[in-house]
Amino acid sequence: MWTPEEIRRDFPILGETVNGRNLVYLDNAATTQMPEPVLEKMCAHYRHDHANVHRGIHTLSERSTEEMEQARCIIQEFIGAEYPEEIIFTSGATDSINLLARSLSFGLLKPGDEILTTEMEHHANLIPWQEVARRCKAKLRIAPITASGDLDYGSFQQMLTAKTRLVAVTGVSNVTGTVNDLSAIIRQAHMHGAWVLVDASQMMRHQVINVKALDCDFLCFSGHKMMGPTGTGVLYGKKALLEQLPPDRFGGGMVDEVRLKRASYGDLPYRLEAGTPNIAGIIGLGAAAWYLSGLGIEEIAKREKLLLTTAEAALRQRASVTILGEPQKRAGCISFNVQDGHCFDVARLLDQLGIAVRSGHHCAQPLLRAFGLDGAVRISPAFYNTTEEIIQTMDALDRCIRVFGKAAKR
Ligand code: PLP
Repeated sequence: MWTPEEIRRDFPILGETVNGRNLVYLDNAATTQMPEPVLEKMCAHYRHDHANVHRGIHTLSERSTEEMEQARCIIQEFIGAEYPEEIIFTSGATDSINLLARSLSFGLLKPGDEILTTEMEHHANLIPWQEVARRCKAKLRIAPITASGDLDYGSFQQMLTAKTRLVAVTGVSNVTGTVNDLSAIIRQAHMHGAWVLVDASQMMRHQVINVKALDCDFLCFSGHKMMGPTGTGVLYGKKALLEQLPPDRFGGGMVDEVRLKRASYGDLPYRLEAGTPNIAGIIGLGAAAWYLSGLGIEEIAKREKLLLTTAEAALRQRASVTILGEPQKRAGCISFNVQDGHCFDVARLLDQLGIAVRSGHHCAQPLLRAFGLDGAVRISPAFYNTTEEIIQTMDALDRCIRVFGKAAKR
């Protein structure tokens, strides 16, 4: 079994110093760092195999194609999809959701249809649905959260009707770390004949995902939150549903036959992947999934849970800290505010001490508003973090608390 010390050697960036201190990187809900095997895989592609995919009958093109399609199979296995063509490569979760939203707006959503989402969504899983609802004259419904930061399941159930065409819900909140009961949500949505899109952006690293067992219709995520490179992501969809989706972008790589005034489109997955893909990135994403599988998602979850509960317990001991929400189950991150200190000032002070945390609205303004806030500080540990780093962060936070307390008294 691996120790954090061993694992940290895989991540060269963790050896950086920031403001003269050893970097403590606790912003993993925004972007995770890449291990050597991912970096090496992408470098090797650029050094030895770099060429466009699917188009050339020459060796480098064949090697690139093979590596990219291998990545598709790795991702297929990683999320338990039935077919590789159910994996559509995108530039990230935002791109995946926009792809689905635009595509549904091409005739699949009718006036009066309803889209149900929640108050805890990242803007990426909210604004596309606002736009689509407006364009299609569909109705957007928003299930509220409770004071503890959980989904209000009673309201959610009431809002599900025969008119609900799609439920778009996050698996884990990127602010409170609330873990949603996806099985119940999906079961209930299906009872009303609705499709379910799961935003799995905050789940990938520490939750075993099996889309077949979950029975979700669509699922999306970004590569850079699971040790892969930025500019990569996936839209998974059940094959029969993806086949119904009209392409949302058009151009090279996605066609069957093109005439001057019309074109016919190819098969999945290419018909939804117009243009040259992010080949090296996709290969890196495959390597990231491989790396995480090698460590074991369950083991990662255990380690990260320990770090998160340590952080939560320490935050609770500090009277001037207010934690956002007390969800029944929390994973990945925790957000809080410090009395007398704006979240940006806390993050800036921590950065001066070498500690990277996130502050602001976390692209979830409605959720922050539900807590009566416009910002918060977020800590999101990954498996390469250590308990010592959490303690160090709490010591640094105490310094912030003292500084703000003194300033408030002046
Ligand atoms: N959904 C959730 C829950 C997220 O946390 C994020 C990013 O923070 C996104 C969607 C959007 O991801 P990206 O910016 O990589 O497209």
